[in-house]
Amino acid sequence: MRVVVVGGGISGLVLAQGLHARGTDVTLLEAAARPGGNIQTHRRDGFITEAGPNSFLDREPTLRALAARLGIEERIRTADPAAKRRYLYTGGRLRALPQSPPALLRSDVLPWSAKLRMLGEPLTPPAPGGDESLADFGRRHVGRAATRVLVDAMQTGIYAGDMESLSVAACFPQVAALEKRHRSLLVGMVRARKEKRAAPPPPEGTPSTTGAVASFDGGLGVLVDALAQALGPVLHTGARVVGLRREGPGWRVTVEEAGRREEREADRVVLAVPAHTAAELVRPLDAPLADRLAGIVYAPMAVVHLGFAPGTVPPPDGFGFLVPAAERRRVLGVIHVSSTFPWRTEGGRILYTCLIGGATRPDLVELDEAALVTLAKEELRLMAGVTAEPVFTEAVRWKRGIPQYNRGHLERLAAIDAALAHLPGLSLTGNAYRGVGLTDCVRDATARVDALTR
Ligand SMILES: Cc1cc2nc3c(=O)[nH]c(=O)nc-3n(C[C@H](O)[C@H](O)[C@H](O)COP(=O)(O)OP(=O)(O)OC[C@H]3O[C@@H](n4cnc5c(N)ncnc54)[C@H](O)[C@@H]3O)c2cc1C
Repeated sequence: MRVVVVGGGISGLVLAQGLHARGTDVTLLEAAARPGGNIQTHRRDGFITEAGPNSFLDREPTLRALAARLGIEERIRTADPAAKRRYLYTGGRLRALPQSPPALLRSDVLPWSAKLRMLGEPLTPPAPGGDESLADFGRRHVGRAATRVLVDAMQTGIYAGDMESLSVAACFPQVAALEKRHRSLLVGMVRARKEKRAAPPPPEGTPSTTGAVASFDGGLGVLVDALAQALGPVLHTGARVVGLRREGPGWRVTVEEAGRREEREADRVVLAVPAHTAAELVRPLDAPLADRLAGIVYAPMAVVHLGFAPGTVPPPDGFGFLVPAAERRRVLGVIHVSSTFPWRTEGGRILYTCLIGGATRPDLVELDEAALVTLAKEELRLMAGVTAEPVFTEAVRWKRGIPQYNRGHLERLAAIDAALAHLPGLSLTGNAYRGVGLTDCVRDATARVDALTR
């Protein structure tokens, strides 16, 4: 069996490496000069910065198993314990984000009226049916004020989305499942905790995870480099796929590489490219399928790093802070990189990463790099009191940053799967479908390796 994987982001890399390790004849075609997709680690002037994802949640055994196979598990570094503390910017200042229901009652992130409303969560009315938005779901369970502050902050940290449009079932399937079983999330969480305590231990050999925020000692690029090294000549960079057609029971993939256009034969093709690119490749084969793929929208994002000389700003506390949209500020969130991952800056330098744009402020991502740096400095001064001048700045814009699992997403996926059933040998993976996080991509790509080699 010959497999062609199109797209060498983390999804395509993991898939191709998994197939290669099982002896499958596989080729990975990546359009850019370097693999990794939106994972891009830079090292400059004593700072290690991430242009795309900053870290992952160490909760996915498949990622641990992958790192072990690649010989880099020892290089996984979990965040400093202080990073457990997180902050919210609400009501014009930073406030500690409570980590438990009792801590929430004691905290000042919500007024008492909102806290009392939250105590009524076990009396939540039944789900109205249909694909409910995250905002409607939140209002039904915890009321308007808590939704505006807590639910919005939670989604912003993952989707940078608009909670009025996001689908709760697609974005937070475990929460939707909890409601289905128990109706009340509070009751469901208490019961789930009891069940977890009574559950048998995981099967022997399951890699143990820490549940903490994590990265690698040299940043996420360590994972990309290890995958690329394991793939060797299987990985072609600078190889852009421009066409796809069926030929008998197999496939022909047209690729532009080193100034030449050529066709490659394959029994199976996996598209690990963004959904809009997959749409253009399948359009000549199935236009309605292409329209469905093109309908998965992406929120634009800008990432701005501000680095400070040692001693010029006090080290900030905790992982960072999130800013609910209702605050009407120009930053979605800020990561205290040097406090979370101290090894990413040398000699006591301080590094902040500001996230800007998302579904609610796409206009800001149109700004040029210099304007984005100015904006980040102004917002950091206003919200966190950082008045020093940075010695290091870097701004990266992602026109299509994070896929939005808006209402209708699950129905769209079902229709996409039904259409693919008529195109045997063609499949899709990547962050546009079943999880936007890096570990979701690793899990989905690993499952696809199993499916292809069964
Ligand atoms: C700003 C930002 C911050 C994020 N932060 C986090 C985070 O902190 N934690 C987390 O878990 N996740 C985060 N994410 C999400 C995570 O980065 C992504 O889900 C994941 O990296 C996506 O990987 P992918 O391989 O599916 O897609 P991509 O990384 O988009 O890779 C697709 C690849 O396909 C290639 N390609 C496109 N067209 C063609 C073609 N015609 N031929 C050949 N190749 C082609 C592209 O060059 C690219 O390399 C963030 C994302 C962004 C944008």
